[in-house]
Amino acid sequence: TINSAIVIDIIKSIAKTLAENKEYLTELDSAIGDADHGINMDRGFNTVLTKLPSLEGKDIGTILKTVGMTLVSTVGGASGPLYGTAFMRAGQAVAGKNEIDEKDILTIFEAALQGIKERGKAVAGEKTMIDALEPALKSYRDAVDNNIGLAEALNRAVDAAKEGMEYTKNIIATKGRASYLGERSIGHQDPGATSSYLLLQAAARVVN
Ligand code: ADP
Ligand code: MG
Ligand code: MG
Repeated sequence: TINSAIVIDIIKSIAKTLAENKEYLTELDSAIGDADHGINMDRGFNTVLTKLPSLEGKDIGTILKTVGMTLVSTVGGASGPLYGTAFMRAGQAVAGKNEIDEKDILTIFEAALQGIKERGKAVAGEKTMIDALEPALKSYRDAVDNNIGLAEALNRAVDAAKEGMEYTKNIIATKGRASYLGERSIGHQDPGATSSYLLLQAAARVVN
């Protein structure tokens, strides 16, 4: 199981990974967007980091909800409300809990992705973060159903997210700024799918 302290470590790990990949994410966004995705994500998670001391000892639902609200208010752009909604829904899904197991994490993951899809009015195949997250959720769910253990289930989710992220190179964007490019968006990897992959990888690393 995972307790509140580990959740805080996961958030720190995500913040570190996004900071390390700030230029990379911004470069991806410069090809098919407005060159700010890395800057947006780094700004959001830096603000999240400043809130972590006040969250020590709080339940996991409160921690995730606070992360979500902070992202909504500091990230801006398309990704702020989307990731913000994901974390807020995740928090609601485990409200009051101080420990979560792999089934709770499945519930979190489902709630987060559902939130993103509703908020962005998007589905898989539109060259967005959903193209990394949906296959990751499916792999994670299959792994949990097969009682494979949390660490391995997360690793499989990360592998599937990577594949989904790479697949975004082959498809046309029909949501977000990249959709303005139409066919010219082909050949470019989606920045949001990339940050989603990095985020899952950073989370899995803490548990492994
Ligand atoms: P902005 O495009 O407003 O500058 P960002 O650059 O931070 O915001 O984020 C862009 C990413 O947001 C895209 O790469 C894509 O993955 C994601 N995105 C954009 N619109 C949607 C949507 N409607 N649904 C899901 N994801 C989206
Ligand atoms: Mg952008
Ligand atoms: Mg922008």
